Amino acid sequence: MAAWQAIDRIINPQPISYLGWVIAGGVIGFLGNEAVAIFRIRVGRKIGSAALVADGVHARTDGFTSLAVVIGGIGVLLGFPLADPIVGLLISAMIVVLLIGTVRSVGRRRMDGIETELLATAEHALEHEVTGIDQVRLRWIGHRLHGEAVIRVHDVSRAEANRIAAAAEDSVKRHLPSVDDMAIRTLAK
Ligand SMILES: [Zn+2]
Repeated sequence: MAAWQAIDRIINPQPISYLGWVIAGGVIGFLGNEAVAIFRIRVGRKIGSAALVADGVHARTDGFTSLAVVIGGIGVLLGFPLADPIVGLLISAMIVVLLIGTVRSVGRRRMDGIETELLATAEHALEHEVTGIDQVRLRWIGHRLHGEAVIRVHDVSRAEANRIAAAAEDSVKRHLPSVDDMAIRTLAK
């Protein structure tokens, strides 16, 4: 719809009135949306909600859209009336790019995918306690993470192996507060 409107304005140019208000609205829109975006993305990451992070990214797009409107308004002020519909086209392209990113992140979550940086953090956390890591898995269940790992212990008693596993579990939970449950199996080798 946005692209359609922009193309229509390029073919059939129309004078823009109240340019000062257009620019002021754009500035206010940018500041408000960016504040909301920062808040939603921060809370979304904290509670592990892909939907809230996506919502924050959406607010950020809206903010940049408002900023683009300001740039278009300034362009019109400087005597370049096509600036407004051209900005409209750029905004349309940005909407598509952000849509693809959001579909990918929400889609990955739906397909039981996991962010590679979370796996890397879990591995790093295990490395605080053990050297041999055979397998690390993480899975989102709602906004919380559940995981499992296989670690190698060398020449230790059963009690010592259990202590290492418990310490490794604690380390993962310290590094990733979203982890509720981390099942660790020790492999004597
Ligand atoms: Zn660490």
